[in-house]
Amino acid sequence: MHLQFTGMGTAYYPQLGSNSAFFSIENHLYMIDCGESTFKSMVELGVLEKYDHITVFVTHVHFDHIGSLGTMITYCRNVLHKTVTVLSQDTIIQQMLSLAGINIDRYVFIQEPVHTEPNGLRITATPARHVDAIPCYGYLLEYKQDRTYFSGDTAVIPTDILNEFHSGKIQQMYVDCSTDRIGGRTHLSLEALCSMIPDEERSRVTCMHLGGPFQQAVLDSGFCLPDCIHS
Ligand SMILES: [Zn+2]
Ligand SMILES: [Zn+2]
Repeated sequence: MHLQFTGMGTAYYPQLGSNSAFFSIENHLYMIDCGESTFKSMVELGVLEKYDHITVFVTHVHFDHIGSLGTMITYCRNVLHKTVTVLSQDTIIQQMLSLAGINIDRYVFIQEPVHTEPNGLRITATPARHVDAIPCYGYLLEYKQDRTYFSGDTAVIPTDILNEFHSGKIQQMYVDCSTDRIGGRTHLSLEALCSMIPDEERSRVTCMHLGGPFQQAVLDSGFCLPDCIHS
């Protein structure tokens, strides 16, 4: 599944925009996360008007991933007369929105680890390892024969996901690549990805959530960069 990105940066590297992706099936727009710069980018692209249904999959509640979600929900509701669906494994997002005056009757909330849409899209939440304070999830997206993994912010790729990628059952992965060299407890790095993905499989891996201007190093390593309006 080909994802388009409105941003591919980390919280502290806003030059690349907040890491957020979108794709569509029929008349339904799907977004993964809605960070600080995402709403502005979506409005500038003019895509919110085009679809009858809009669903946002949330990986976690750091503001580089949900910073403009509240504004997008109310804009879609009040201006476009569309009700946004939010799929999240963490119900605290309801409290955060409620504190900003956006009550549950303003949007549809789904908390299901495995969710199947009427069009056949299946979304499976996969726990990530990010920070201790809040949970974070990646998502496996399955549609027809296509299986695509989106990591969210994470220091590891789950072993079953990695095995399915190596065997070809998962065709593409979009993975956290916050730093070029130094690995860490909270994010993956280019160095870590090089150690776990053989050369011949790197063309099926897109490095996202970059924390600096090391796009050329990503490409030189054989990985892909997101199809992104911030490049
Ligand atoms: Zn982040
Ligand atoms: Zn985060």
